[in-house]
Amino acid sequence: MNSPVWHPYAHLKTQRPTPKVIGGQGARFHLDSGETLLDATCSWWCMIHGYAHPRLVAAIREQAGELCHVMLGGLTHEPAERLARELVRITPPGLEHVFFSDSGSVGMEVAMKMALQYHHLQGKPHKRRLLSLMKAYHGDTLGCMAVCDPEEGMHALFSDALPRHHFAPAPRAGFAADPEEVQADLDDLRRVLERHHREIAALTMEPLLQAAGGLNMVSPHYLRGARALCDEFDVLLIFDEVATGFGRTGRLFAAEHAAVSPDIMVLSKGLTGGYLGHAATLASSRVHEAFIGDTPLHAFMHGPTFMGNPLACRVALESLAVFEQEDYLGRIDRLSRVLQRELLEDADLRAHPEVADVRVLGATAVIEAKDASSLRGVADYARRQGVWLRPFGRWLYTMPAYITNEDEMGRIIEAMKASFR
Ligand SMILES: *Cc1c(COP(=O)(O)O)cnc(C)c1O
Repeated sequence: MNSPVWHPYAHLKTQRPTPKVIGGQGARFHLDSGETLLDATCSWWCMIHGYAHPRLVAAIREQAGELCHVMLGGLTHEPAERLARELVRITPPGLEHVFFSDSGSVGMEVAMKMALQYHHLQGKPHKRRLLSLMKAYHGDTLGCMAVCDPEEGMHALFSDALPRHHFAPAPRAGFAADPEEVQADLDDLRRVLERHHREIAALTMEPLLQAAGGLNMVSPHYLRGARALCDEFDVLLIFDEVATGFGRTGRLFAAEHAAVSPDIMVLSKGLTGGYLGHAATLASSRVHEAFIGDTPLHAFMHGPTFMGNPLACRVALESLAVFEQEDYLGRIDRLSRVLQRELLEDADLRAHPEVADVRVLGATAVIEAKDASSLRGVADYARRQGVWLRPFGRWLYTMPAYITNEDEMGRIIEAMKASFR
């Protein structure tokens, strides 16, 4: 029974047998044991339409019959052209150029490399460092690890092997905070910029929701303030919307809550409805224009083999069409209201001695425990109730598929609350 599959984030000595998934339908997947589990995480937040969505499956089948793959170096194809146009249409104004890649981490690498090269081409080669936030998570590659929270993040082991970037404190004022409360966070950001802006190329952040770093929910005023500070100090603003994109915070993109356009934006996870790995790094014309020039250094030297994969682009187009035609923002709003009613308005839960905080934003909810030990056994209990939960650290969260109905949402919430009774 020894499997050669090496699982992520697993301690090899203590890891438990991994259940085998044989299929899925809607918000649920099936195990070879005969169990059916309601997925509270929609598979690391990407399967926003649930499993086996007929339109997404058909789009992949149809595209597979036409063209599965072709390089984007020196060639193009209709699915990539159409998807790029669609992404420009739906993302915040000003983002007009699309660089494809194959995962969220690589999409972030592309964004960071673009920012450094932009400043080089603008005659500011000393802008070689990035500014990130504590509690940030931007991916697991070496470049991305260097902009993840260096202390609480999961990459502390590598810290001395990574490039040194700058960090500002994680924003403390929550989503609903007023501008005065947000000011202290922005003052922190300003202090780092005042001291180091000469060497800072870009500020990277997960707008509104620092996800894997602990589901920290941040005010739109913070995004507006950060935009103004970036302009003041000639620093590019990179929004990593890998997790927040495609409805997770209640709007199509988190940036919309603040009516802010970043200079560079990264999308992945929900981009293909989770059906294939892909990512897009969007850039403003200001960034793009800096790359138009006569020297060899003007070319952007990056090109993932599978960038713009036709299957991935085609299913992404279908995902967007379903999102718009079936009023997903309305569905997300209904899910959000259930989450608010059952979690935020549950006074007993919030007053529970082991609960530090309860937060809801769009189709995202978290019960933050004071201590990780409170969440021991939660996933096993949920599984017996037919729910797949995967808490991490002190955070017990749900990011359901948007097709989850109210009844299913209720069952997920019950499984989450059960350990605090
Ligand atoms: C998941 C995630 C990434 C990394 O994406 P991968 O596809 O796993 O490489 C980057 N940024 C954020 C905000 C994420 O949630």
